[in-house]
Amino acid sequence: MIDTALSTPACSISVSLNKVRHEIRRALIDSERVENSATLVAVSKMQSTDKIETVINADQWVFGENYVQEACAKWPALKERFSRIELHMIGPLQSNKVKEALQVFDVIETLDRHSLAQALAKEIQKQGRAPKLFVQVNTGDETQKGGVSVSELGAFLKDCKTIYDLNIEGLMCIPPFDQPPSPHFALLREYALEYALPCISMGMSSDFEQAIMLGATHVRVGSRVFGDRAV
Ligand SMILES: *Cc1c(COP(=O)(O)O)cnc(C)c1O
Repeated sequence: MIDTALSTPACSISVSLNKVRHEIRRALIDSERVENSATLVAVSKMQSTDKIETVINADQWVFGENYVQEACAKWPALKERFSRIELHMIGPLQSNKVKEALQVFDVIETLDRHSLAQALAKEIQKQGRAPKLFVQVNTGDETQKGGVSVSELGAFLKDCKTIYDLNIEGLMCIPPFDQPPSPHFALLREYALEYALPCISMGMSSDFEQAIMLGATHVRVGSRVFGDRAV
């Protein structure tokens, strides 16, 4: 059997990348937003280095990964060759992986608890290297999902600054799979405005246009760029 995920030719990847770019531009125009005010984070988890290089060669520099171990295996060599790369951590981050995470990620979108804030603060001091930080918000209050609950967000943001001296630049959310995403996107935008945070990461392959209409500054798109994942 031919595995379509592994055999997607380079030309089809650039076609889908350009389609996504076009749809992002379209959604920005439709919502009367400034050109280029939404960054495409190409989510490359479970994708091969070959495919990633195809996307880099199509002038895409911002990527997202979910797992520290996978990112550390794939990205140091790529970053050595392509210094413009900006790598976002978009998966749950364990405190004991913070050291490695800081070595490879430029943005961490999933800060969601005190123990992680503390571990990040300590390691940032040690390495003298500070990633951009977004706080993940559990807008659907799902017990199994990461993210700060809406009721604790204000206090958590304050603690990040006053206790851990961390500069938070944005918010991120993953709406519940079984609900329309728009109310969650609207809520995240409200909080970003309330706390004066410039970055709003929301929207994936199935809903990035809605997210842009509702103010996303970063959309995280995987399968619509790369094709289906190998797993
Ligand atoms: C995998 C993943 C994405 C990308 O998902 P697609 O549906 O492939 O676009 C975006 N955000 C997060 C947090 C993810 O884990």
